[in-house]
Amino acid sequence: RINNDFASLSGNVNISFEFFPPRSEDMNQVLWQSIKKLEPLQPDFVSVTYGAGASTRERTHDVIEKIYTETSLNAVPHLTCIDASEAEIEQVTHRYWEIGVRHIVALRGDKPDDSDKHNGDFTYATDLIKKLKSLYDFDISVAAYPEVHPEAESAQSDFENLKRKVDAGANRAITQFFFNAEHFLRLRDKCVRDNVEVELIPGILPVTNFLQLLKFARFTQVEIPGWMHKLYQGLDQDPITRQLIASHIAIEQVKLLAKEGIKNFHFYTLNRADLTYAICHSLGRRDCFAAAS
Ligand code: FAD
Repeated sequence: RINNDFASLSGNVNISFEFFPPRSEDMNQVLWQSIKKLEPLQPDFVSVTYGAGASTRERTHDVIEKIYTETSLNAVPHLTCIDASEAEIEQVTHRYWEIGVRHIVALRGDKPDDSDKHNGDFTYATDLIKKLKSLYDFDISVAAYPEVHPEAESAQSDFENLKRKVDAGANRAITQFFFNAEHFLRLRDKCVRDNVEVELIPGILPVTNFLQLLKFARFTQVEIPGWMHKLYQGLDQDPITRQLIASHIAIEQVKLLAKEGIKNFHFYTLNRADLTYAICHSLGRRDCFAAAS
């Protein structure tokens, strides 16, 4: 009997996309082509990351504002607190509220080096959530780590941190990328078992640059399974085949998660539309503009 998993992927899922602020005019064009290509898939929201440095931060605001003005999308800024003063956070937050932002991804941010020093008024994401909630009734998303955050004392203390973030007002947690679905499913089951009421959304990373992934995975302590090394073997100079392999892996990943009952997917687009579009198509999502015509 042919078992066609795709038959169950009816499009009855929620999707969201992550972008980063472009650093050049060329990158800006790529970003906007991608936003326009992905918009008709009607994501729940699209988020824009927040980097270190004032100019990068201003670019996050600019992209968010432009998405509001020029598209039908619900734009969600990321906000980090590690080196921010309370006054800075208040100022950024008021600006966002004024342009219509009602949902923020609240994060601590990465430390500039390995030390415990930081220049901000906030130590952890929980402190930022409390501040945001004291200012406005935002919908708050946070980060979660199926393979444990690298600085956490233990898996249990990291889980307790997720619980603290939920208790402080977060109602959604987007995960770090992962390739071994067991890590994600274990965290999902633990949330259910321990009554942590949060929508846990898998962060899906389609991998076109495997060498870059290996560096990033060391930094984030994400497991890269042996089968992935085999799949990308010999493809360092072959971006087209890597692209095909990337879509195969990500489609298998979302199929497996969908079979496990996952209904929300967050895509790290890296500002490119093609792979994310293909994966969402395989999940059953269709271009709503084309469907209407
Ligand atoms: P926290 O939740 O504050 O946790 C940080 C560490 O402290 C963890 O190890 C936790 O276990 C520990 N901890 C927390 N509270 C306590 C406590 N009371 N006592 C002891 N230990 C504690 N970075 C950016 O700079 N910009 C972005 O836009 C961005 N977007 C992201 C989006 C997603 C979906 C994800 C998964 C990550 C993102 N990051 C971003 C990276 C993130 O900022 C880093 O992973 C950062 O190191 C941790 O941020 P956090 O919000 O998870 O921190």
